[in-house]
Amino acid sequence: RRALFAYNRDLPSETKDGTRVSLQVNAGLLLDISQAHDCGAEGIGLYRTEVPFMVREAFPDVPTQTEFYDRVLTLAEDKPVTFRTLDIGGDKALPYWGGTPDENPVMGWRAIRIGLDRPAMLRRQLRAFLKASEKRHLRLMFPMISDVSELTRARNLLDREMERHLQNGGSEPARLEVGAMLEVPALAWQLPALFERSDFVSLGSNDLFQFFFASDRGNPRLARRYDVLSPPALNFLKGVMRQADEAGAQISLCGEMAGHPLEALAALGCGFRILSMPPASVGQIRTMIRSLDLAELEEFIDDLVVRPDHSVREVLRGYAIDHGI
Ligand code: PEP
Ligand code: MG
Repeated sequence: RRALFAYNRDLPSETKDGTRVSLQVNAGLLLDISQAHDCGAEGIGLYRTEVPFMVREAFPDVPTQTEFYDRVLTLAEDKPVTFRTLDIGGDKALPYWGGTPDENPVMGWRAIRIGLDRPAMLRRQLRAFLKASEKRHLRLMFPMISDVSELTRARNLLDREMERHLQNGGSEPARLEVGAMLEVPALAWQLPALFERSDFVSLGSNDLFQFFFASDRGNPRLARRYDVLSPPALNFLKGVMRQADEAGAQISLCGEMAGHPLEALAALGCGFRILSMPPASVGQIRTMIRSLDLAELEEFIDDLVVRPDHSVREVLRGYAIDHGI
């Protein structure tokens, strides 16, 4: 297995014209962290913390959570870990925590919405992160932020937990970074304020594009109907990245598209330089990056995003073949 993940791990993930791309992994199990080492990823770009909650029989208390996050950080060694606070509800149900059934669960009471409405649950998780991260680097992000005020409220909870942690004799993290996930299209219309109030942003293309196209990500009838490799979707990504560049803000891409070569190619052409994906994808994405002339690709994408087409997938495939990618 190690060889399967490691075949190009020591080669730089750098384009032919010299742009470095940070490759990170999405994780939810401890196994994913050892695979992050195997494939030579720079870090864990998304740690889905609901996964360890989903496999338990009851809601884990603060000491149990602390021990778990501590293990994650220890196993990750020098690789930064971006923990995402609980994203339950929607497609991720906790068997021991009911809530009320929603008619449209993915657009319902989930993720940060539950966190802000039931702050005791989120505060316990924040408390555990702070305990596990004493004198360590803590990167934390909140899922399904729909407008900046939700991030502000979540940060206020974190500040209160930090105060309490220090009063109880705890130490601060060596470094603390707080981010938001861009998964709800509305947030893209508040980017300047978002960049001001966050240390980083991570774009979750799975949720973002299901809302963008009003198309359930799990519905097989719709699976081929809308394409992230379409002018509107790429135009959206380009617009977000242009604003990020203007503000000097850091945005990564952590949805599934980052792990598919053609989609990752398009994301790079739209300006992304940090991609987080399943560990098994890192090798092939590194190979794709190393065969890329980015300046030329960016020009090519500029023309694609204004086409009146349904999809530009075949056009991009042709580009990749023509350029030996
Ligand atoms: C996403 O929505 O793209 C994302 C990374 O989060 P999840 O897949 O866990 O909903
Ligand atoms: Mg999501």
